[in-house]
Amino acid sequence: MIQSGIPKNLLFLIANRYMPPVLKLLMEVHDETLQGFLLAGHATAITGLGVYDFMHNEFKLPCAAAGFEPVDILLAIRELLKQIKSNQYEIINCYTRVIQTEGNLIGQKCLNEVFDLKAGIWRGIDMIEDSAYILKDKYAFLDARKQLICKPDYPPQAHHPSCVCHRVMLGEVEPQDCKLFKKACTPSSPFGPCMVSPEGTCHVRYSYSEINIDFI
Ligand code: SF4
Repeated sequence: MIQSGIPKNLLFLIANRYMPPVLKLLMEVHDETLQGFLLAGHATAITGLGVYDFMHNEFKLPCAAAGFEPVDILLAIRELLKQIKSNQYEIINCYTRVIQTEGNLIGQKCLNEVFDLKAGIWRGIDMIEDSAYILKDKYAFLDARKQLICKPDYPPQAHHPSCVCHRVMLGEVEPQDCKLFKKACTPSSPFGPCMVSPEGTCHVRYSYSEINIDFI
């Protein structure tokens, strides 16, 4: 869209993130409880599988790229369990109807031409190198942050002091371990990003909190 020309009064507020660096950070701080990863199918369809090679080369963890239907998730979990059982670690593509090994080469070319990867702040975690997409200098005239006077009245890392979203995202605690969960913090009154999006871990746990899940 940017490359094909857009109206002069259309600006972009870019908040896109690149996942591999944050997964690498997670690998570096994780303990033995992490045994494998489901890779999100929509992002992997663009990047391809190669950007996750460090997961098995460096960290010896099995990965499975999954789609979003229940059967896709089950298939990917089955692949992870097979690898864990046989003490193997590789990246399996369980979403072959969408993901090609090399990814979407046209999409990658567009991303590389329009965006640079820079250090970005992950709320509650830290600044992570090469994890945030920003528009290249030649497209700065389309960047809302540069063209408009944007002064948020809170610092970019601010979140409620009792919100443990960052620990939820790192897999250190469950949403229900947060003292705000289902009390002050609900989907209609979220305190942290994990409760905002329907895909957020706290939001999901809230929606299905009547279901008891026994983790083995
Ligand atoms: S329940 Fe709310 S306040 Fe607690 S960690 Fe989740 S998003 Fe943050």
